Amino acid sequence: MENVVIIGTGPAGLTAAIYAARAELSPVVLIGDQPGGQVTITDALENYPGFPEGISGYELFQNLKNQAEKFGAKLVADTAVSVNFKETPFKIQAREQLLETKTVIIATGSDPRKLNVPGEKDYVGNGVSYCATCDGFFFRDKKVVVVGGGDSAVEEALFLTRFASSVTIIHRRDRLRANANLQSSAEKNEKIHFVWDSVVTEVSGSKETGVNGVLLKNVKTEAEQVFETDGVFVFVGHIPNTQIFKDQVELDESGIIKTTRRQQTNIPGVFAAGDVQDPIYRQAITSAGAGAISAMEAEKFIAKMEGTSYPGKLE
Ligand code: NAP
Repeated sequence: MENVVIIGTGPAGLTAAIYAARAELSPVVLIGDQPGGQVTITDALENYPGFPEGISGYELFQNLKNQAEKFGAKLVADTAVSVNFKETPFKIQAREQLLETKTVIIATGSDPRKLNVPGEKDYVGNGVSYCATCDGFFFRDKKVVVVGGGDSAVEEALFLTRFASSVTIIHRRDRLRANANLQSSAEKNEKIHFVWDSVVTEVSGSKETGVNGVLLKNVKTEAEQVFETDGVFVFVGHIPNTQIFKDQVELDESGIIKTTRRQQTNIPGVFAAGDVQDPIYRQAITSAGAGAISAMEAEKFIAKMEGTSYPGKLE
């Protein structure tokens, strides 16, 4: 039986792994289908403390992974497909193995929300993208649209100006949600344009040449227009990866895992950290902090359960 199984390898999961390994809990980490998670598709993290010149998301992932393995975390290339937290030891069924464990840290992150409009699915990888860092390069000197008005949309729009000839942000309201810094950078950028009060209702194109336009509807006037574009970058929020936990731990109405300040779910011994439980901050650094707390709490939980020593207060 394992002491702690960590599900996910974003900043939350790998920081939990570093802390749990240093506490000599020999953590097992299920890497999942997207090693490193969302952070790996971030071109440059300029606000992660300790890297004044910035660091790429992929490099941060590699560093965290190396650090976790150096201290003895066991990273396993497998993905959890179901869990049973209704009895102890907790059971985690992965594709290739069944794990039994005293504690669990859920750090499965989130996935980009889709628009769910006709054509979107058909052109993924052929003009529709959820990752500017991954796909921006293919739009050199082309016209692209970015859908959304939050930090991600504006940050990625700015990134896309490195390649595209023009970047049009399509937002369903008449003002951005993004922070003031990003807003003013976007407003000053000559390549960035805005279409307000509008939603994309269809993505059009052809199999051979990919996307050639979007159908837009003005939500105030209901007027429709065809907007020509070579690419559609969608940044309209995220959906937490909690499908396999929904009958096992308490979720809120948006599917996010409810936790206490100590990252504890409603099941004692099951913790959650990062985007999977945090709808507000969603930063690599806050996820890493939550991962560290989860591991320290898991250590405490095991010490309490087994009456073993713990270097601190067991309250
Ligand atoms: P977000 O803040 O939830 O913004 C999502 C945007 O998409 C909003 O503008 C929303 O419109 C729009 N939207 C949602 N559903 C839509 C739909 N079906 N059709 C059209 N538009 C839709 O998501 P995010 O930008 O990914 O940011 C998530 C969190 O990460 C935030 O807390 C953000 O601060 C943080 N973040 C921070 C940074 C940074 O600090 N550099 C970078 C990226 C993300 P409304 O505005 O009308 O709701």
